[in-house]
Amino acid sequence: MTSLDDLPIRDNLRGLSPYGAPQKHVRVALNVNENTHGVPADVADDIVASIAAAISQIHRYPDREFTELRESLAGYLNEESAGAGLSAEQLWAANGSNEVIQQILQAFGGPGRSILGFPPTYSMHSIIASGTDTAYITGQRDAEYRISPETVVREIARTEPDIVFLCAPNNPTGTPVGLDTIEAAYDATRGLVFVDEAYAEFMPTGTPSAVTLLPGRERLLVSRTMSKAFAFAGARVGYLAADPAVIDALRLVRLPYHLSALTQAAAVAALRHSAEMLARVDEIKEQRDRIIAELPALGYSGWESHANFVLFGGLKDPHATWQRLLDEDVLIRDLGIPGTLRVTAGTEEETTAFLDALARAD
Ligand code: PMP
Repeated sequence: MTSLDDLPIRDNLRGLSPYGAPQKHVRVALNVNENTHGVPADVADDIVASIAAAISQIHRYPDREFTELRESLAGYLNEESAGAGLSAEQLWAANGSNEVIQQILQAFGGPGRSILGFPPTYSMHSIIASGTDTAYITGQRDAEYRISPETVVREIARTEPDIVFLCAPNNPTGTPVGLDTIEAAYDATRGLVFVDEAYAEFMPTGTPSAVTLLPGRERLLVSRTMSKAFAFAGARVGYLAADPAVIDALRLVRLPYHLSALTQAAAVAALRHSAEMLARVDEIKEQRDRIIAELPALGYSGWESHANFVLFGGLKDPHATWQRLLDEDVLIRDLGIPGTLRVTAGTEEETTAFLDALARAD
């Protein structure tokens, strides 16, 4: 047996850690921001029927352009963000938004190129940067993990990146990013601005998405995922809204037929039920806000969150608390941010189980 260090892997992969959220079978898993409500029974029935229909053509390669799915996604976003006026030519999808991001960096990153990100943020942004030989430059956030228009302009001037990465709302802090900040970034760079909106549906009702900024901004890219609001993490569907020329660039790097026929059928069926799925998002937001409201009585405080999770602080030994919760079969996330842990808002029962275990953990 040889070790990884003995293999001739590319230099920029040496010393790198793979994505590392533990996968454990526990009673209450609130560690990777899934939608633990799952898919309602009537939606599941429709998905199963669509997959069954797709099986009759399973010996054929799927629609390489996933046209129906792109039309469904455009319809969904146009309903949410009136005025975006998106057409299917501006939509793209892949196996999770992770793959979308990988395709973006395969097309626009690479040796000699850089992205500017603002840690603490989603770990896969820098991991995919390493995997594509793209330099990852670290920008500074303001107090309370925010990014103002002034900050982003200053950091772009300082680092001159090829792509600006904004995570809105940000994982793991839940921090919102104002449209003014995204516009300021766009105006301050000649490069691309990529906005990761994995949690957009959990923003306060009426908060505009970066999708509304797309008209006239051909260097703006906005990704979304069905993993969170649509409870589709296991199906792997992420998507991008951008200028058709950007989508053309992604066609150069995607593997042919990358999105399976079953995935396409399932996603189209789920999107028909967006109203029902968004009603569940409201329930998750209630549990999120309940966590933030109840933490102070336990001696902790949660940051305001526009996502389906809460980063909370005031922990003397976060890892010890994480372990005590795990001992009670409640799995949350220790991201190594001093004094903090992150918990996903679950069902009412799961959230109660978490809060009760946390009360006992001190
Ligand atoms: N972006 C952010 C900010 C995330 O938190 C996640 C998943 N946790 C993703 C993208 C990737 O999600 P998926 O690949 O399931 O679409």
